[in-house]
Amino acid sequence: LSLVASQFAAALAVSEALAAERHRAEALAELDRAKTAFFSDISHELRTPLTLLLGPLEDVLADPGAGLTGTTRDGLALALRNGQRLERLVDDVMDVVRLEAGAVVQAPQPVDLAAFTAELAGVLRAAAERAGLSLHVDCPPLPAPVLVDPRIWEKVVLNLVANAVKYTFVGHIDVVLRTVGEVPGTGPLPLELTVRDTGIGIPAAEQARVFDRFHRVLDARARTREGTGIGLSLVRDLVQLLGGEVTVDSAPGRGSTFTARVDLPAAGFAAEGRAPSAA
Ligand code: ADP
Repeated sequence: LSLVASQFAAALAVSEALAAERHRAEALAELDRAKTAFFSDISHELRTPLTLLLGPLEDVLADPGAGLTGTTRDGLALALRNGQRLERLVDDVMDVVRLEAGAVVQAPQPVDLAAFTAELAGVLRAAAERAGLSLHVDCPPLPAPVLVDPRIWEKVVLNLVANAVKYTFVGHIDVVLRTVGEVPGTGPLPLELTVRDTGIGIPAAEQARVFDRFHRVLDARARTREGTGIGLSLVRDLVQLLGGEVTVDSAPGRGSTFTARVDLPAAGFAAEGRAPSAA
């Protein structure tokens, strides 16, 4: 009888431990939901006044009849640039929150990915040239439009190219989109986006960590203060959402090559492909 009693006591202890563990997991999940809700609320609260602040600033700067003096104009332009920086930061935090909550709903549509990628890279051409860099885009037409959420692809391309511009002080940047390997007659297109720069490079020991949230390499921090360490973690999560993978190959002082490999469904080989508007 005492054996049965002790077995019963042991079973009870195990079930109590399990219940306690379940309770702890539920409490943690609840805390996580609260954190997500908090960040989501606060970023929305920041976003609205920012939009109301930047709109009039943009208008007055674009208005030739506004009669701004040189110093006023410079001051307003500085305010606008920094406001836009803050806006990007808030948007990044909102993306992170949505991704962590599993709340990113993809809205795939047929996209001429070669034209769209070239257009996106082109957005940063002026910034590259201002920094004395040349930006070369090589996106030959693909055999078919692909089904992808353009907002996701846009973030991937813009983050990678913006980093290449930010961390390169001499030389050039190449943006290439091409199919890899055997291209099937039907089914998804095997695609590779490559963003190559001749910039500061990333030490081997840091290469895996640059995709971690908030991680910045010391050398990069020293050279440019602007950065949060969010961009590449977003790129990694978004490329994974598309079912692909992003990798880096880099040598300090020589440059970096970021490669995103994705298989995207062809949106009908006969369909007419057009780049979506940037909206
Ligand atoms: P941020 O640029 O805001 O710091 P990211 O997440 O985009 O954040 O990048 C993380 C870190 O990876 C950067 O701080 C930098 O150290 C390194 N890095 C990213 N892209 C490059 C690049 N093209 N060349 C060199 N270092 C890079």
